[in-house]
Amino acid sequence: MDVRLSDDQELLRRSIREFAESELRPHVMEWDEAQQYPRALLAKCAELGLMGIQFPEQYGGAAMSSVDYCICIEELARVDPSVCLSIAAHNGLGASHIAMFGTEEQKQTYLVPLATGQQLAAWGLTEASAGSDAVSMRTAAVRDGDHWIINGTKQFITHGGTGDVIVVMAVTNKSKGSRGISAFIVERGTPGFRAGKKENKLGMRASETSEVLFEQCRVPAAQMLGAEGQGFVNALQVLDAGRIGIAALSVGLAQGAYEAARAYAFERKQFGQPIGTFQSIRAKLVDNATRIDAARLLTYRAAAMKDEGHRTTLEAAMAKLYSSEIAVRAAEDGVQIHGGYGFVKDYPAEKYFRDVKLTTIGEGTSEIQRLVIARQLMAV
Ligand SMILES: Cc1cc2nc3c(=O)[nH]c(=O)nc-3n(C[C@H](O)[C@H](O)[C@H](O)COP(=O)(O)OP(=O)(O)OC[C@H]3O[C@@H](n4cnc5c(N)ncnc54)[C@H](O)[C@@H]3O)c2cc1C
Repeated sequence: MDVRLSDDQELLRRSIREFAESELRPHVMEWDEAQQYPRALLAKCAELGLMGIQFPEQYGGAAMSSVDYCICIEELARVDPSVCLSIAAHNGLGASHIAMFGTEEQKQTYLVPLATGQQLAAWGLTEASAGSDAVSMRTAAVRDGDHWIINGTKQFITHGGTGDVIVVMAVTNKSKGSRGISAFIVERGTPGFRAGKKENKLGMRASETSEVLFEQCRVPAAQMLGAEGQGFVNALQVLDAGRIGIAALSVGLAQGAYEAARAYAFERKQFGQPIGTFQSIRAKLVDNATRIDAARLLTYRAAAMKDEGHRTTLEAAMAKLYSSEIAVRAAEDGVQIHGGYGFVKDYPAEKYFRDVKLTTIGEGTSEIQRLVIARQLMAV
């Protein structure tokens, strides 16, 4: 067992870190205030392969491994967790669902422009009254000749207002429960498909989140994604992989919050000495550094298992649960170490603190991760 990254992976980390420091760091607060994903960044991200990190080269992707994916996501989140959330949702949900379950024609038509950064993907599972219990969704699709007609409203959709393509889950046979839900690819501009309310969020503000409405939206049958009735089952597999991405995002965010706190601790003096020399401040830094390392190892384990072709339901849920919860702790300690300066926008601590809470909620809350883990560990 070798827990060290390869030379190529260290090089990848350095190049994404340089990109994040030069292209993201100067704009973090401006994008947070604007509450809009910086669309101009898509082309720059695409140059580094960040819009199609794990997809095969034949579809315009960078064909990186799942461990490489974690490195990219970590380095982006270390600087700007909200821009990173957009890239993770694009790669890990919408585009990934098409890459995993699309036909060759669907991949050529939809995955190529997504993986090359010409288009942005959205993924619609959640509804106002169907969050953790997504199977109780009401959005439904009814067959009409060689089309499906979709009606319903999706809630909290990343890129719901700006994504070019959405993968949407809808009930096609209510009597079959979770096996009566199908997935569809819908393009922006399709009559009957529009964005609703844009959310005004606590954090992750540069990543746009909106309601999405389908009103008598006619979609050709060829745009069903995966087999009829398999949409929810496939979505769970998409989430297994997506959760490794949110775990990596949490690790990167925690690392950024920790580094900012450590730097501040040796810059700020009280009682005639840097606060970083006080034992209680050092203990916070040491405990966070240790927890971040543990979270990173859990995340890389899940990613390495995925690379080896194993099922990772258990490992991905453990990585997501632990990494997100220790990230909340790291961001909170970051504010505490900054004292009053952690409460104002002149320092990065407050933004990590606002952004981090999404990690214990999105792609399945901590409570749901514990349910998933319990189901894997215990028969009853
Ligand atoms: C910024 C942002 C971006 C998002 N992006 C997307 C997206 O792109 N696509 C998408 O489909 N969704 C997206 N979501 C939705 C997200 O996945 C849901 O918010 C999440 O799954 C929780 O659902 P909910 O908000 O309805 O909470 P609820 O399910 O109502 O949960 C409320 C509370 O009850 C707890 N709870 C629920 N059921 C149980 C149970 N059985 N046992 C114990 N506790 C339970 C939850 O853990 C939580 O603490 C996004 C959300 C946010 C905030």
